[in-house]
Amino acid sequence: MRHTPRKRFGQNFLVDQQVIEKIVASIDPRKDDTIVEIGPGQGALTRPLLASGCQLHVVEIDRDLIAKMRLENIHEQHHEKRFHLHQADALQVDLGAVAGTGEFKLIGNLPYNISTPLIFHTFNWRAQISEMVFMLQKEVVARMAATSSDGKTYGRLSVMTQYYCKVEPLFMVPPDAFFPAPKVDSAIVRLTPYKDLPVAVDNEVRFDEVVKAAFGMRRKTLRNALKAIINTEKIIAAGIDPAARAEQLSLEDFAALANML
Ligand code: SAM
Repeated sequence: MRHTPRKRFGQNFLVDQQVIEKIVASIDPRKDDTIVEIGPGQGALTRPLLASGCQLHVVEIDRDLIAKMRLENIHEQHHEKRFHLHQADALQVDLGAVAGTGEFKLIGNLPYNISTPLIFHTFNWRAQISEMVFMLQKEVVARMAATSSDGKTYGRLSVMTQYYCKVEPLFMVPPDAFFPAPKVDSAIVRLTPYKDLPVAVDNEVRFDEVVKAAFGMRRKTLRNALKAIINTEKIIAAGIDPAARAEQLSLEDFAALANML
């Protein structure tokens, strides 16, 4: 059964066998692993993952692809008890409930049009996730890994990802590894949620608020960008120059600022 790739679901399917093997090696699936895959598509990663003997849950939005997987019997071939199809929007789904109890690995060649909100969504289950391996647009991986010396690349995604996870960019993947070929380069990243967070934050909601507000007006000084939530005296008391801009602040600086609220 042929499937016509749907642009609106970000369907660029992996076709390069060497790249597929390299990604699966990075995931390192084990027999006693529980793995959740977002967007299995036509099963390029799904099949080799199943071959490892792991418990695998896949979350796919496209009903036709779910039907195709059923028809092609991926399900039956791999022992119905180990393979679980979930037709759902990964942005809405409770990933912890999908995986069941215990730790799980979260992986996926993610649809690029929703990758940033999806990354933020995954942080809700960080306590249950042992590691995440994702394919993303190269620039998104660069943003996740950026620090305050990286200028415009550094932003809310960098700070929040590095607060929750160790970030390891692994390797690049060129457009010709996919069908249809995307217009952008891709990269694989490993995110390992911290058991002990790297900085102490009193209130994570406020922390996110400060980071969002600071980068929301990144060309303004912190004094102006944060005017509605924190006054200049408190910025100074946190040890930060109120004339600085968001992209000059480290993760520790943002934590210090948020802890003044
Ligand atoms: N894993 C396959 C591969 O590597 O060839 C497909 C990857 S393709 C880039 C992204 C997949 O995510 C597609 O199968 C698409 O239908 C699915 N998808 C798109 N939006 C989704 C969403 N909101 N929730 C779950 N799956 C989604």
